[in-house]
Amino acid sequence: MSLQSEFDAENKAGTPAPSTARTDPGTLRHDWTREEIEALFALPFNDLVFEAQIAHRRWFNPNQVQMSTLLSIKTGGCPEDCGYCAQSAKFDTGLKASKLMEVEKVLAEARKAKEAGSSRYCMGAAWREPKDRDMDTICAIVQGVKEMGMETCMTLGMLSGQQVHRLAQAGLDYYNHNIDTSEEYYDKIISTRTFQDRLDTLERVRQAGINVCSGGIVGMGEEQSDRAGMLMALANLEEHPQSVPINMLIPMEGTPLEGEGQIDPLDFVRTIAVARIMMPQSMVRIAAGREHMSDETQTLCFLAGANSIFTGDKLLTAKNPGDAHDSKLLGKLGIEPMPAHTCPAEK
Ligand code: SAM
Ligand code: SF4
Repeated sequence: MSLQSEFDAENKAGTPAPSTARTDPGTLRHDWTREEIEALFALPFNDLVFEAQIAHRRWFNPNQVQMSTLLSIKTGGCPEDCGYCAQSAKFDTGLKASKLMEVEKVLAEARKAKEAGSSRYCMGAAWREPKDRDMDTICAIVQGVKEMGMETCMTLGMLSGQQVHRLAQAGLDYYNHNIDTSEEYYDKIISTRTFQDRLDTLERVRQAGINVCSGGIVGMGEEQSDRAGMLMALANLEEHPQSVPINMLIPMEGTPLEGEGQIDPLDFVRTIAVARIMMPQSMVRIAAGREHMSDETQTLCFLAGANSIFTGDKLLTAKNPGDAHDSKLLGKLGIEPMPAHTCPAEK
């Protein structure tokens, strides 16, 4: 008997079943309509979280959270104009640009993250796309981190077919490439590339057999229908991204979005819950913005189906809560680190 039907059988109060979806929570679908998604967003909060919990428990141990660590291997000086990003050369953010890090230095940082309990090492470069001459270094880094027994993830911007092929050969586990927002809102945030450019890279990555990590940002002045549009674009891809990072905008000084007010934390939790329902086998990550979230908001995110976080005190160029705070919170909640390669959607 499913959790939903157990609930129905024992539901003496006669409360209607919360589901607005056409199928049982936890079923994989790629045909979501905007109306259905907006109906999920509009559910009473308790019903939404209940449905997200059913979906989550169908595929995951609800008391495990996957820990990733993120390192900036090439910081600043990026030619793109993403309106949220401190690393764009188009804005005066006071950030000093640096060159691609040497292999040994990256490996030394990865070793520290492993010792701190991280199972995935994510590395980001502030590039529109990598130059072919950088690919030997990038591939050596992937191989070195893999040899330590950690999952590897890179985020390097757009990729050509040849570059994707090289990363696949090096054994890269995940490639991150966020769609950031809905197709309709995209050009309010970024003008130097299109939404379709993003989808094209994601498709190349998928076809090469690399796991996809793709999500977006909330709190950039978008409407709830844009959040629905963003999740629809992700869930209706040929395969759900294996990892779905949901960022809360960190307003960075000097960027066009520096004055954006914080979104209501409960709207953030709703976005997590809807993502969990729509992509039930994926890791849903609370990515940027945890530094500004209360422990209670983070707890609601876990209840709504988030099961991945970035650990460590730095997130590319932004602050992150740090290992001591995270262990204390996870300890209070009885949440344990998820072992590597546990995601049921992983290739
Ligand atoms: N240049 C590569 C690219 O854009 O794909 C990789 C690095 S980029 C910094 C990684 C992601 O971090 C972005 O796609 C965005 O979703 C997120 N991000 C960057 N700045 C942020 C901010 N201020 N607040 C929230 N999320 C942010
Ligand atoms: Fe460049 Fe990535 Fe920042 Fe956009 S998000 S400006 S592509 S580093």
